[in-house]
Formats: sequence, structure tokens, C-alpha cells
Amino acid sequence: MAVINYGREIEIRREVDVFVGGGGPAGVAAAVAAAREGASVFLAESTCSVGGMGTIGMVPEFMPVSDGVNLLCAGLGKEIMDKAYAYSDKSHEYMKINKEALKRAYDDIMADSGADFRFASQIIDVKARDGKIDYVILSCKSGIYAVKAKMVIDCTGDGDICAMAGADFAVGDENGAIMPATLCSLWTGIDWENTMDAPPHQSFVEQAFAEGVLPVCDRNLPGVRRVAANCGGGNVGHAFGVDGTDEASVTKAMAEQRCLLPAYQIYFNKYIRGFENARIISTAEVLGVRASRRITGDYVLKLADFKARAVFSDEIGRYCYSVDNHPATPDQAAFEKFRQEFLEDYHYGVGDSYGIPYRALTPKGLSNVYTAGRCISTDHYMQASVRVMPGCYITGQAAGTAASLAAASEGDVRSVDVTELQKTLRKNGVYLPATAPERL
Ligand SMILES: Cc1cc2nc3c(=O)[nH]c(=O)nc-3n(C[C@H](O)[C@H](O)[C@H](O)COP(=O)(O)OP(=O)(O)OC[C@H]3O[C@@H](n4cnc5c(N)ncnc54)[C@H](O)[C@@H]3O)c2cc1C
Repeated sequence: MAVINYGREIEIRREVDVFVGGGGPAGVAAAVAAAREGASVFLAESTCSVGGMGTIGMVPEFMPVSDGVNLLCAGLGKEIMDKAYAYSDKSHEYMKINKEALKRAYDDIMADSGADFRFASQIIDVKARDGKIDYVILSCKSGIYAVKAKMVIDCTGDGDICAMAGADFAVGDENGAIMPATLCSLWTGIDWENTMDAPPHQSFVEQAFAEGVLPVCDRNLPGVRRVAANCGGGNVGHAFGVDGTDEASVTKAMAEQRCLLPAYQIYFNKYIRGFENARIISTAEVLGVRASRRITGDYVLKLADFKARAVFSDEIGRYCYSVDNHPATPDQAAFEKFRQEFLEDYHYGVGDSYGIPYRALTPKGLSNVYTAGRCISTDHYMQASVRVMPGCYITGQAAGTAASLAAASEGDVRSVDVTELQKTLRKNGVYLPATAPERL
């Protein structure tokens, strides 16, 4: 391939304590937490809304916030969800998402926190030396510019910033197989009084495939959730083998998913009570990528930690969602394995949870960088649990709070006093029961 050398001088337009890359649930929680602790914060988001998959991606509901006894996603997560529900018309349950209400809640909380932010701002590079990111480079309509930051939090979901800085990462399982993506959708014309907003939406997939209604026998069909009167948010259809960090792969998947969804509309019309007149009126502008890079940190959160209900002396939160590892292929064996793991093997009972250690947020080899959200340091099983939005609020709030402490001292993630961090998180409502030595 032919190459050119492209170099130019660019402005340093901003200088902040904490730079947050990406404005999904993790990014918002990180930015707000850091700003409330007194740090100067700037968040860059490539689209024109914060909220990530919950808004621009049209994900229709929040996964569990509690273990049935304790509110694990207390603190900022609860605050955001409460505000979003207060802004909605209440024609749906608390855990379902009216995305316009959620967008307004995020906008308000961001603005009130004092964190500065810009939409339409793509992070394209970093300037790093000796494991320290000095500048993050943004590309916007107004040109390319640099932000100088003491601390950087990678909340891009894909771990873009860490990858740009040369951090190690893992993708997929031991064979490289990766969870499929979904293009979420908005449905109208649903008779909610006469149907259910949960499985058995998938009950007729085999029949529909045999009858030629569905082109793929994809037994894993999360379904359509009630997000307003007559309206549903669709988490329907899978694109297999997508690399969310490769635009060619994403482009192909988007086009394929838009072609596939009309078949699912016919499926719901024909087989699911209450959906006889349902119509898809919109699909998300971004592909719903469930998994991509997991940035290798000082600790890799593992399936064994899930099984052990692990307690860490440096934990920054606890979470409990089952290992929701969508099958990488649409065959029956993969589906049965998924179901066994999701519903039985890696599924908690009431009161159970696992700790998330501070070290899962600190990428190996980088001194002033945190990860939060989907790309934190886990194995592929644990990513399939902690990736959901309540999990992202927990790690986002922790990373933002930690970054504010680091910025006020040596600017090094490994010099942060974790006991002080835990104290600050507790003060701000985070669920953090007593840790070592009391519990070990
Ligand atoms: C199809 C699907 C269904 C799901 N269903 C549920 C569910 O029902 N309930 C639930 O709780 N969770 C669900 N999840 C999981 C959850 O939505 C995501 O894992 C979660 O939103 C991840 O949060 P995040 O902040 O890490 O990343 P994201 O939400 O992906 O946000 C990352 C943000 O960073 C921005 N960004 C990325 N790269 C750059 C860059 N280079 N420069 C600037 N900005 C950038 C993106 O535009 C985005 O706004 C689902 C996920 C998918 C894909």
C-alpha cells in the first residue's frame, strides 16, 4: 500500500484536569463525578447526544440496578435514571427507556455539573510519551485540535484512546469469537394491553424459519420492550462476526440489519399476539456493538471472580448481572450453551454480587489513563456482564472520581489513595460495603 507522511501543527485549544473520551453512560458518569469533585473537565463525543447506546443506539431498557437486596447502581446511576423517569410520560416501567427523556436527563446533569462538553468531536489520536498521554487530538468541523489533559478517561466503549496510546487489549473469546451486534429499532402500533414486553417473543423462531418468514434461525431474540403507549423499543436481530472497530465491517452490518428488520416485522405481525399491526418506524443511527476491545489493566476481572462473588480490597463497586454472552453464531448448540450459562450457570440469586477492583480501570503501561464502561479490563465472560448500563455507571463514577483525586495530586493512577477514593465514592452515594480487612 502506498503511504504519505502527513504532519502539521495544530492548536492546543483546551487544557483541563480531566479529559473524558466518549459520552455514553460511562462517560457521562465519569465527567459528572470528576466535575463535582472540583476538577476541570472536558468531554468529547463523536455524535450529537450523550447517552451512548441508551440514546443514540436506541437500547430500550436498563439491566438490573440491584441484587434484590442492595441497590448496586446507587449514586450517579440512580440519579440519572430517576431524572429520566421524571421526564418521561410514565406510560412504561421505570427500567424501560424513553430515549428523549433520557437525553434530556443527561443534558441537564452534564450542564449542572459544570463539565464542559462538545458533540460532533471525534477523537482521532493521542500524543503520548513514556506511558503518559499529554494530548488528545480531536477532529471537528472547525478543524483538528489538541486538548492537553492531566488525566484521561477512555469511555469510548471500544477503548479507542488506549489503543491509540499503544495499550494491550483482547477481543472475543479464546478462539476470537465475538458477541454479535444488533441494530436497535423503534416500533409503533403495538397493542400493549394484549401482549407481553418480554420473551416468549422468541418462541416461534424455528417455526417462522421453517415457514420462510425469517431468513436465519436465530433463536436468541431479546424482543421488543414497551417504551411508550403503543410504542416499543426493538432489540431484534443479530449481525454476526462484526468488528466494531472496522468501519467496513460496521457498514456491511448496518446495511444487512436494515434489510433484515422487515422480516422481523412480519414475524411479530404473524406470530406475536398484540403485534398484528406493529410497524418499525425507525432504526438507530449507530450499530449496537456488544463487544470489541477489552483494555488489559492491572487486574483482569474473570469468570472465576463472578463464581466466587469476589470481594477486593480495592473495589470501587459491586455488580450482579448474569453473563449475557450472546452466541457468536446462530446455531442451536451455541444457543443452548448461551441459555444454560445465562439462566443457570452464571446467574446469581438474591443478594449475590461481585466486586469490581480499581485495578480493572487502570490500563497496564499507562500512567494517567483510566478506562470505564464496556472496555474495562475483563475476560470475555465478565465483559458480557459488566457492559450493561448500570455496570457502566458504576465504573464511570469511580473512574471520574479517581481522576479528580489523581489530578489534584501526582497525576498518576497508581498513586491514588484507594481508601480515600472509596470514602469519596461512599460519600456520594455509591454502594460500597466495608472492604478488606473487614470482609476478607
Ligand atoms: C444491541 C445492544 C443491546 C443492549 N441492551 C442493553 C439493555 O437492554 N440494558 C442495558 O443496560 N445495557 C444494554 N446494552 C449494553 C449497553 O448499552 C452498552 O454496553 C453500554 O452503553 C456501554 O456504555 P459505554 O459508556 O461503555 O459505551 P457506549 O454506550 O458505547 O458509549 C460510547 C460513546 O463514545 C462515543 N465514541 C466512541 N468512539 C469515539 C471516538 N473515537 N471519539 C469520540 N467519541 C467516541 C460513542 O459515540 C458513544 O456515544 C446493550 C448493548 C447493545 C449493543
